[in-house]
Amino acid sequence: MTERTIALVTGANKGIGFEVTRRLAELGWTVLLGARDAERGAAAAALLPDLDVAVLDIDVTSDKSVAAAAERVEADHGRVDVLINNAGIGGGWGSALEVGAAELLATYDTNVFGPVRVTRAFLPLLRRSTAPRVVMVSSGMGSLAITTDPARIESTLVGLHYPSSKTALNMITTQYAKALPEFRVNAADPGYTATDLNGNSGHQNTVEGSDAIVTLATIGQDGPTGGFFDRVGPVPW
Ligand code: NAP
Repeated sequence: MTERTIALVTGANKGIGFEVTRRLAELGWTVLLGARDAERGAAAAALLPDLDVAVLDIDVTSDKSVAAAAERVEADHGRVDVLINNAGIGGGWGSALEVGAAELLATYDTNVFGPVRVTRAFLPLLRRSTAPRVVMVSSGMGSLAITTDPARIESTLVGLHYPSSKTALNMITTQYAKALPEFRVNAADPGYTATDLNGNSGHQNTVEGSDAIVTLATIGQDGPTGGFFDRVGPVPW
């Protein structure tokens, strides 16, 4: 089994996940570039030619795809040290009066059930690591404290599904952290970052947007668990 740290990043063919993949591979890690579309995954990996990056087919909304990905990683690598649940969708910005259950379900399938599906499937491989870490890519828009603070711009943005999906993910993060005290399990808020998720309107670039995730992916066993962090420090829940 390789001594290199092995990380899996879901939704890594573009945006923040791609930048996280590049930065972790530049540390000398083996990085599994998760992509739901094999062609998009291969095109992204081709942009990182001299790094130890392997494309992994994984659609986080499919039990079958996630199970097949875990089997493939077990066969090829035998373990995973760091899981980064990054894949996510915006899903639109309908208000509580506009959004129905079907739309909520579709967003939750990726942003909430996806990380649960992937974390459960990869738990046996993470347990084989001497320093297992899980990073849930959340959002400041999932923070009840921030989105109800009139001083924050986030409090003026309405939206039922994306914000509530990230709030659910925050609770899922703390519950996994409690259930797995030997792991480091944390939520990251990338900050408002220019990617396809927001029509490239974010004020940060993807290097800045990947900072918190890279920090949490690289913490030691003495690092925090069950926390929520952006690139400058703790984020209120
Ligand atoms: P992005 O550029 O749109 O990238 C999203 C990635 O997720 C893409 O690779 C996409 O794949 C993948 N994905 C979507 N559904 C998937 C599925 N079912 N299975 C596997 N992969 C799937 O967005 P981003 O801004 O980098 O977002 C990354 C994460 O950061 C998300 O969790 C997002 O909520 C979070 N975030 C972003 C911001 C921001 O300002 N950008 C702020 C806070 C949090 P395809 O290319 O195949 O669609």
